[in-house]
Amino acid sequence: MKICVVGTGYVGLVSGTCFADLGNTVVCVDTNQEKLALLNAGKSPFYEPGLAERITRNSEAKRLFFSDSLVDSMAEADLIFIAVGTPPLSSGQADLSAVFGVAEAVFNSYSQQALSDFKVLITKSTVPVGTGEKIKAIRDKCGVAESKVAVMSNPEFLREGTAIYDFFHPDRIVLGSDSKAALDKVSELYDPLYRRDTPIVTTNLKTAELSKYASNAFLATKISFINEMANICERTGADVEDVSKIMGMDGRIGKYFLHPGPGYGGSCFPKDTRALVYLADQVGYDLSVVKAVENVNQFQKEHVLTHVLNYFGNDLSNKKIAILGLSFKPNTDDTRESSALVIIEQLLAAGADVSACDPEVKRLTKFESHASFGIVNNAYEAADQADAIVLVTEWNAYRELDLHRLKEGMKQAVFFDLRNVYAPEKLVKAGFNAYVLGRQLLKAPASQSL
Ligand code: NAD
Repeated sequence: MKICVVGTGYVGLVSGTCFADLGNTVVCVDTNQEKLALLNAGKSPFYEPGLAERITRNSEAKRLFFSDSLVDSMAEADLIFIAVGTPPLSSGQADLSAVFGVAEAVFNSYSQQALSDFKVLITKSTVPVGTGEKIKAIRDKCGVAESKVAVMSNPEFLREGTAIYDFFHPDRIVLGSDSKAALDKVSELYDPLYRRDTPIVTTNLKTAELSKYASNAFLATKISFINEMANICERTGADVEDVSKIMGMDGRIGKYFLHPGPGYGGSCFPKDTRALVYLADQVGYDLSVVKAVENVNQFQKEHVLTHVLNYFGNDLSNKKIAILGLSFKPNTDDTRESSALVIIEQLLAAGADVSACDPEVKRLTKFESHASFGIVNNAYEAADQADAIVLVTEWNAYRELDLHRLKEGMKQAVFFDLRNVYAPEKLVKAGFNAYVLGRQLLKAPASQSL
């Protein structure tokens, strides 16, 4: 099929490249010239495992193209995917200006170019329930018949860091439309995946739109729930890892998203929970569970500082803290809403020096001009002359650190592990005073600690 994907971010570029990998001809459109220059040079504008090779392979095979012209790129396309950003406004509401902008451009272009072939305009961006109806209203305003361009919602569930795998092995594909012709056509596109037993759920527009928010809000709920259990464990001496394992063994609960940590981040959960709460308010419903989930998440991010302050007697002046991990999760360079940003901001405000590292994030513009902040090459450099380590993101590079080597370079041997990567006993054995999230502080015998 001929496909046009608008927006070459984590969703658009991965989907477009993978559609090309399946043999389709794909043009990815973006307004960002810097991104387009990189893409046209065969490079990925962001880090996603396996993506760069696929971009090169499909570009060379003349199945994948990049353009800044929506008008030219959509003319031949059977399917047009909208995959632009839907960032939060200060109210929490999703900013849909880019989505509606693309929809208007598509319908105007369709009528002005006097195109006659049937197309499906598909929203892959995460949009509030009712957006598809508004897109249909734009179509009507532009005088394009429903039989010419059908509107569909196809929410995306891929995860950054494993996006390629997720594209080819989705748990489900959701297609929402009231056009049977559109449902048939897009089912055909996904047919190669369906043959691997991927369930395709066809439903109406509104249900497809809401299902994405419902899924993200539920996953965020699991995270906030286990974080609350971790906080109870810290106060009682129960072991949160075991609590999580025992809960996860229950088929009704499931083992995923039950890892305690410093709060969820990224470009989806925080904005999508806020947008869902906003939407619920608009329709006169108080979404109390999701509001509580957000509050717990904010507490969890900010609470890290309390632990550090408690340890150092509320005085971080002349203290150097090493931060391991800046991305919101491993295997991505995405720092949007990363807990590391909140933790670093608070540490700097409390007077600490911060030396950070991350395998992929090499710049953080937010703190670039701060004299007390720097990004170094690796964990050992970050820990050099530090008073404490805070492990924020569980990259593999931080799972098997040489603890003795780390400790040797430090002024004080203190390890805050926010991801339960290390057993507290292992850290203590290496001479660290250890705070592992969800556990009580465990101190090394006085002779071992620096
Ligand atoms: P992103 O910010 O990485 O990329 C968006 C891209 O759209 C940018 O390259 C931007 O330049 C481009 N763009 C904006 N306006 C445009 C226009 N008018 N024409 C052409 N290009 C335009 O966003 P993302 O992370 O890929 O997310 C896109 C959507 O998918 C969001 O709604 C998000 O909630 C949803 N989503 C994201 C993920 C994820 O893991 N990132 C997962 C599922 C769903």
